[in-house]
Amino acid sequence: MTTFRCPVCGLHYPDATLAEKCAAWCRTHQSCNLAITRHAVASSESS
Ligand SMILES: [Zn+2]
Repeated sequence: MTTFRCPVCGLHYPDATLAEKCAAWCRTHQSCNLAITRHAVASSESS
């Protein structure tokens, strides 16, 4: 399964749009938006 990672906070998302929204929010607010991070998926990748 392909996931898209927010480069700022490192959370993984099932689609690129969510990852981009998360990254934009993280860069601007230096915090996480629950409305976005609730869509994050657990990743089994170690990195
Ligand atoms: Zn993020």
